[in-house]
Amino acid sequence: MINRREFLLTAAAVSPATLLAQQNYEWGGPVLDIHLHLHLHLRPDGEANLAHINGSGVTKAVLLTRAPDAERSKALVEKYPGRFVWFVSADITRPEAPAQLTKAVKDGALGMGEIKYQVPCDGPDMKRMYALAAELGVPIQIHFGDVPQASGNAVFSGGFKRFDAMLKAFPKTKFIAHADTFWANVSADYAYDTAYPSGPVKPGGLSDKWLSDYPNLYGDMSANSCNNALNRDPEFMTGFLARHQDKLLFGCDCPCSDGRGGGQTNPNPRFSGKCIARETLAAVQRMSKTEVFRKIRWDNATKLLGLKG
Ligand SMILES: [Zn+2]
Ligand SMILES: [Zn+2]
Repeated sequence: MINRREFLLTAAAVSPATLLAQQNYEWGGPVLDIHLHLHLHLRPDGEANLAHINGSGVTKAVLLTRAPDAERSKALVEKYPGRFVWFVSADITRPEAPAQLTKAVKDGALGMGEIKYQVPCDGPDMKRMYALAAELGVPIQIHFGDVPQASGNAVFSGGFKRFDAMLKAFPKTKFIAHADTFWANVSADYAYDTAYPSGPVKPGGLSDKWLSDYPNLYGDMSANSCNNALNRDPEFMTGFLARHQDKLLFGCDCPCSDGRGGGQTNPNPRFSGKCIARETLAAVQRMSKTEVFRKIRWDNATKLLGLKG
């Protein structure tokens, strides 16, 4: 005879994915999070990454991993079947970066990301990465930050206004655009004066236009940047979600400890005591039809990454 507690522990050890599948999906079906940092400083033992996806109702997450930490992510992928995959990043200004990234992709990384360095988005270091991503057949996830913020206080992948030249020059590269400059540019009147603009969106922004014009561009919905865009003009963004329903990928970039807002360190008051994953999933669910929400929370990313389930 085994008691219920032992049974649950055994079942969890055997297959957490199966156990999860037997539960009711909190978001109406499976969820893939394209942007969960391994965050060794916040979630040092790796187990908190599992706590985060369980707490936020996420089925599978992409662990964003620096090349030297690859073994940590690989261990989590193996320990919790079906729950994690990983992307890799390396200091792209260093000559050894292409070899490090290539090795990681051969080792199982499904993408390059998050790529966040103080180089122009159309400079030689980034161009080398765009070519490499196409060669390796994996997407590249880029942090666009033209306006310095308190954290980081620098420009990352600067020169977003010129990025369409890259989308044109590298048609075989799949770009996943993330962060404040991408999401601020849903509005045509973005003045580059703040990372998180407020107020109604003026139609015709670069991000909106480029998602329509370039099949190789995808939008990463993680962090305050996307959540801010959703909240500043829900009416406009409802149309935006419908328009780009095949190009948007849910992600969280949330630093909380448990997928329920515990220990939240994001300074924005909107997230005080809350999990960014839960806030953004709830907003997208509210603002989109069932089918659109399904594509954004699961279908688009699994297709892009070539995952069966
Ligand atoms: Zn970022
Ligand atoms: Zn969270």
